[in-house]
Amino acid sequence: MGKADEEFARPATPPDTTSLKVTREAARKCTACHLYKHATQTVFGEGPKTAAMMLVGEQPGDYEDVAGKPFVGPAGKIMDRALEEAGIDRKEVYVTNAVKHFKWEPRGKRRIHKKPNAREIAACRPWLEAELRLVRPKLVVAMGATAAQTIFGPSFRVTKERGKVLSSKLAARVVATVHPSSLLRQPDEESREREYKNFVADLRVAAKAAEKA
Ligand code: SF4
Repeated sequence: MGKADEEFARPATPPDTTSLKVTREAARKCTACHLYKHATQTVFGEGPKTAAMMLVGEQPGDYEDVAGKPFVGPAGKIMDRALEEAGIDRKEVYVTNAVKHFKWEPRGKRRIHKKPNAREIAACRPWLEAELRLVRPKLVVAMGATAAQTIFGPSFRVTKERGKVLSSKLAARVVATVHPSSLLRQPDEESREREYKNFVADLRVAAKAAEKA
């Protein structure tokens, strides 16, 4: 990715429609930032339009890029386990990402995740706004700094604010927590277990708040 590429970004323009299907189809052809050039496909959100809860991550990973579905790789598997433990049925939630194309850099034959920058996040934000407008979840779970800062602004700190029911301009009720991929990066079994429990606890807060809303 050259520098000119990195700088190419304008806000995406979702269609004016009440159909999630039409919106998803339009997102397939999005070229609002350069990320589409290096990814296999757009990975749009998935789940029922009537979902009470929307989970928002950062961006698709290697597995998701190939499958065209969000949260199907190792981070998705650990998220599924945590959702079940928190009493949340994945089939009933809408799952998406702040950025819809996989950003990566090569390392040997592997594609290594690269954090999206502020321009790319801003370019993709209209798709997330469209999903929020169409699904109108009672509660949003922002997983990780990118999702949380997309929703609350760049000064938001997940470490300080996680596990609380907050409100933002984008959604009336939001619970921030870590991204499930951070659980996979823990240095040892003990910290992995501790972080996993904290993640489940945040999801329980979200489940309760969604019930009350
Ligand atoms: S990352 Fe988002 S804004 Fe950029 S091309 Fe993909 S869908 Fe469009």
